[in-house]
Amino acid sequence: MTAKFQNAIFQNEDKAREALEAVRWPDGPVCPHCGNSDGEKIAKVEGKKQSHRPGLHYCNECAGQFTVTVGTVFERSKVPLTKWWMAAHLLNSSKKGISAHQIHRTIGVTYKTAWFMMHRLREAMVETNPSPMGGSGKSVQADETYYGNSSKRAKGYKKGHRHKQQIVALVEPGARVRAFHVKSATKEGVRNILVTNVDRKSELHTDNSRLYDEVGKEFAGHKTVTHGWNGGGEYVGKDGQTTNNVENFFGVFKRGMRGTYHFCSEKHLARYVAEFEFRYNNRSGLGIEDGERTAIALRGIEGKRLTYRPTDQA
Ligand SMILES: [Zn+2]
Repeated sequence: MTAKFQNAIFQNEDKAREALEAVRWPDGPVCPHCGNSDGEKIAKVEGKKQSHRPGLHYCNECAGQFTVTVGTVFERSKVPLTKWWMAAHLLNSSKKGISAHQIHRTIGVTYKTAWFMMHRLREAMVETNPSPMGGSGKSVQADETYYGNSSKRAKGYKKGHRHKQQIVALVEPGARVRAFHVKSATKEGVRNILVTNVDRKSELHTDNSRLYDEVGKEFAGHKTVTHGWNGGGEYVGKDGQTTNNVENFFGVFKRGMRGTYHFCSEKHLARYVAEFEFRYNNRSGLGIEDGERTAIALRGIEGKRLTYRPTDQA
């Protein structure tokens, strides 16, 4: 684990800040106060005396000062950027996620701080402006699964089928997944998710659940597979239709939730779903390796939802 932290961004606060600047400002600094991105009108405040914050910039347009963390989840954080990079790297290089306990022990922050850091990073991983999935000549798989607390550690949490949550996921094979936490999958709910996220020119692939009968008619095509021990074990239909990709996503999600996180409350489930969704959509199979995946995740710290939220906890 420690061998991974040889890179200077995990050791040197200046290098960590410069790396964050490169991620957040690929075309040069942007003033968070007035939006000015004209390099001629932004000066780096430099001097031998340490009377100013490192990485401070001055905007000639609005006479404001800023650093790369202004307007992000890191702005009020007391945690050094080197440790944010470590936590982000661990979260993004672990296929099944990484627990706050592990982060606490590995990077040397309190458990409480680790817990808040992980949730801030998960928020950064939420995709804010997704484009429609599928399209003409493409297929999209839809499926739903139950998620519930069956762990012994889930003391105090209600167990059993009635207290399980459902997750609906859509996968465009060879591309991406989008997953949604719902209380209970209904025809109306599933239709709403499908028609707002999937291009209607797509072919829909599902199992033979009645949930998809009607909405299936709204797409260019709807093909089903019958599977399970009572259905004949068919995983790829005669026209090549399958739900294998969406089932694989559920498999990784469930193994991670069981093995790494043990359980999570309903309140936080959507954040964990977003974490697994992000890693799937930025996977090595698409040519995105750990370092780049981490950088893409950190680019998301700028999201509007986070901008003015107090983050004193981390
Ligand atoms: Zn400005």
